[in-house]
Amino acid sequence: LLMGILVLTFCGTLATGVILVWVFLRRERNLSELQADFVSKVSHELRTPLTSIRMFTETLQLRRGDPLSEDRCIEALTKESSRLQQLIDRLLDWGRMESGRRIYELGEYHIHEIIDEAIKAFEPTRERRDVELEISIDASIPKVSCDKSAIVDSLVNLLSNAYKYGGSPRWIGVNVVAIPKGVSISVRDNGKGIARREHKRIFEKFYRVDDLLARQQEGSGLGLSIVRHVMRAHRGRITVDSEPGKGSTFTLILPSKLSSRSQAVTGSQPA
Ligand code: ADP
Repeated sequence: LLMGILVLTFCGTLATGVILVWVFLRRERNLSELQADFVSKVSHELRTPLTSIRMFTETLQLRRGDPLSEDRCIEALTKESSRLQQLIDRLLDWGRMESGRRIYELGEYHIHEIIDEAIKAFEPTRERRDVELEISIDASIPKVSCDKSAIVDSLVNLLSNAYKYGGSPRWIGVNVVAIPKGVSISVRDNGKGIARREHKRIFEKFYRVDDLLARQQEGSGLGLSIVRHVMRAHRGRITVDSEPGKGSTFTLILPSKLSSRSQAVTGSQPA
């Protein structure tokens, strides 16, 4: 009987060991698949504006002296290099977040300041084409403790998306209301909306909805994953409410007070 118990214990331990090794190997394989996927997506994203820059530089050299071509090429080169710059900035931002190295400096702010700054930063994009902007801010909004520039960047991200994927004529509504223990900031557009099955995926890094509109628009697929990271670091969240044909509403939920212990948070939670 003792021998039987020993054999059974040995077999049990062996089986547990085999299962653990299998789980570990599977995780390693998933990680290296994710890494390879990441490298290929980043390379692709960087190569696209670089290819355009090379192409326009060659055209500029070939058509030197033709003012029309020169103007067109310089305009395209400026656009493509700023796209590259934005992509690199986003990647650096995202890298700092992933490694938990991004430090958020908390302060107390009136929501008006944050909205004003976000609208100002969004203006250059707005000037390109017409967009009607409708802003409504509840009178009784409490102050929020947050990293102002991170929240402004997040709002600019949502406004730029509402513009890029918006309807015609473009309309964007910003609505700020007080909620129990916090503030809710919604950015609404009149665009073509997002199918329910995509609602979770659009927050994944590098994910872009595979449709004509998204393909026509510049983007890295990193914006919303960064916003989600920022919101989690603030103990808040981002939600989406959208249906095809009915526009989209993205809402940032910010707690009005973060724990007084945390003067700065690193946001090391997974994105
Ligand atoms: P991108 O750089 O591609 O805009 P984001 O992470 O900001 O990256 O968004 C991910 C995807 O979610 C976009 O590619 C787009 O397909 C979809 N999306 C985001 N915002 C909107 C919106 N307001 N309306 C429709 N689709 C949107």
